[in-house]
Amino acid sequence: MQYISTRGNDGPLGFEDALLSGLARDGGLYLPTEWPRFSIDEIRSMQGLSYTELAGRIMAPFCEGEIDQAELTSMARDAYAGFDDPAIAPLVKLNDNIHVLELFHGPTIAFKDYAMQFLARAFDRALQAHGKQAVILGATSGDTGSAALEAFQGRDAVDVFILFPEGRVSPVQQRQMTSVDAPGVHAVAVPSDFDACQDIVKTLFNAHEFRDQVNLSAVNSINWARLMPQIVYYFSSALSLGAPDIKVAFSVPTGNFGNVFAGYVAAQMGLPVERLIVASNQNDILTRFFESGTMQREAVAPSHSPSMDIQVSSNFERLLFELLGRDGNAVNEAMATFAKTGRFDVDASVLEEAHNIFAGYRLDDAATIAEIRHSATIDHMVLDPHSAVGVGAARMALADGTIPAGVPVISLACAHPAKFQDAVASATGETPALPTHLSDLMSRSEKQLFADATPDAVKALVLQEKRSI
Ligand SMILES: *Cc1c(COP(=O)(O)O)cnc(C)c1O
Repeated sequence: MQYISTRGNDGPLGFEDALLSGLARDGGLYLPTEWPRFSIDEIRSMQGLSYTELAGRIMAPFCEGEIDQAELTSMARDAYAGFDDPAIAPLVKLNDNIHVLELFHGPTIAFKDYAMQFLARAFDRALQAHGKQAVILGATSGDTGSAALEAFQGRDAVDVFILFPEGRVSPVQQRQMTSVDAPGVHAVAVPSDFDACQDIVKTLFNAHEFRDQVNLSAVNSINWARLMPQIVYYFSSALSLGAPDIKVAFSVPTGNFGNVFAGYVAAQMGLPVERLIVASNQNDILTRFFESGTMQREAVAPSHSPSMDIQVSSNFERLLFELLGRDGNAVNEAMATFAKTGRFDVDASVLEEAHNIFAGYRLDDAATIAEIRHSATIDHMVLDPHSAVGVGAARMALADGTIPAGVPVISLACAHPAKFQDAVASATGETPALPTHLSDLMSRSEKQLFADATPDAVKALVLQEKRSI
């Protein structure tokens, strides 16, 4: 499989090259030149596969010519061996219409583990094959960072620097990052918000000399190989409800648009998907886009679901590329306008096409707390604030008829409630307990670095702290 950039000026290149570079050299994001497609019979034949066998089956076409299905299955088996549920991504019934897909059974109890644990193995394999070393630089609104530091600790070929917005991640998230005590993995506190951290990362990726000097690479969700393992649980959950012989809808708590884009890919690959609900908190740039066709940047307003406190959803560029007929120049233009003015618009016909599969909803903090309380008391399920935004949006889409009666909604539970204890406790009156493997987390010692919110400060820190190369 070959990969090209959403901005039309990089590639085609193979899977491992796309994996190792993360962001394309023209500032765009990599996508496969075409979507692999399974027939209905092929999808039906996936019923009964284990999660890791399914992972090999789904990912094989994207790695064709480089990693075969058997090896992908064994990489997935290794990646998910430490997960604390044998189903890896179990589906639990909330009520007659909504099923909750639990994506918090990995080491950092958020869905980022599903991709990151796989990615670390893919990275290791690719770097070893090329005899190379790399510096991974990423920005996190909380969960990516802990998942990355967990997944990459102890890998000699890679130094990892994760920027996080100081004071804007939950205490559990922060301790998960700062308590990883291994050479070469660094949590870096930056006195700003997530978008500023992400801008620094983007700037340094566009500084080609620095990029080449340290062999810079990305593991945030702009990396195609981060999206790829996420496609698997869209298939596994839909198959378990009877797909491809029924249609399902998904409700996806959304920030950077990575997870929900993986759902879009699942649909392109042939999975019958009625609708993808893009669920946002009060940082509702995506909801507003799906309402109006205008992407308009606003200030980030901190919420109870900090991993979705985002105003620029990087992965949306992949959808834009699709919606604009895979025209890299048109994407380039829109993104340049957005960078300059904080706004771009799409034609009514483009918006209409988006509406064929997407619908946007928002829950503010009060609605999020109300949803946590409601699902705990009525449905006897304690949701974290992000998952609650997804379930609340699913209820709205069912109530207004966007999801026809009888179509099951799979709502993605992206974090364990104990990762966001304060919000959950304020809704239910009870503090959710951490799973056993994390019960001593808050007493582990912390190790972190600090950098000013400028590309130069971060660059200097990386050059000072990285081990070799
Ligand atoms: C990362 C994250 C999100 C947002 O996912 P995107 O892929 O960035 O849209 C939502 N909820 C939780 C708990 C997360 O960690």
